[in-house]
Amino acid sequence: MASQSYIRWLGHAAFEVSVGGKKILIDPWISNPLSPVTLSEITHVDYILITHDHFDHLGEAVDIAKKTNATVVGVFELVNYLGEQGVKNTIGMNVGGSVKLTSEIEVYVTPALHSSSRGVPVGFIIRAPEGTLYHAGDTGLFSEMELLGKLFRIDVAMLPIGSLFTMDPRQAAYALTLLRPRAAIPMHYNTFPDIKQDPNQFKELAESLLPDIKVFILKPGDSVQLPIK
Ligand SMILES: [Zn+2]
Repeated sequence: MASQSYIRWLGHAAFEVSVGGKKILIDPWISNPLSPVTLSEITHVDYILITHDHFDHLGEAVDIAKKTNATVVGVFELVNYLGEQGVKNTIGMNVGGSVKLTSEIEVYVTPALHSSSRGVPVGFIIRAPEGTLYHAGDTGLFSEMELLGKLFRIDVAMLPIGSLFTMDPRQAAYALTLLRPRAAIPMHYNTFPDIKQDPNQFKELAESLLPDIKVFILKPGDSVQLPIK
């Protein structure tokens, strides 16, 4: 199973995660300007995790869920709305809650400092046999990240660095000092001119603050194999 387990960046905040024998999409805005895939190429998905309902995160979740019969996981008010849009399988949650998707995969909902039209914005911790993954969603820096780092031994943290709507590279690097993951992947940057950033600035600062950390700067379509070595 190990060789088939990975985190693949689909541009912006969208990731395809393969763990515990399941395919999980996070924030599936597949039509984002950086996306390496088209909607028609997405044929098999088990779960879709959505951090909040802004278009650049909700993306094509409704179409993908209808096409693949995937179960959509998100905040209660958001998944109720998706149910009204015809999505059949949903799990409504809220901050602090967790759910076992399978005997091997557990998802926790974490806070995020941002906005959302339906319910609150969140992040996710995914605990799987290949590692513990944190997708922060869109967020500013917040001190409770230190508690997340203590509660969960995070292997890989996916953090926004684009600024304007979220943390910038400097704040995201400081977030890593609270979260203490083994590895980090920057996201939510360079999709539009408004959130243009140099991910190397994030990597260099992270490495100066945490000498043992691995920062993976991915090109859209690139993957990190799990477990992290
Ligand atoms: Zn966003």
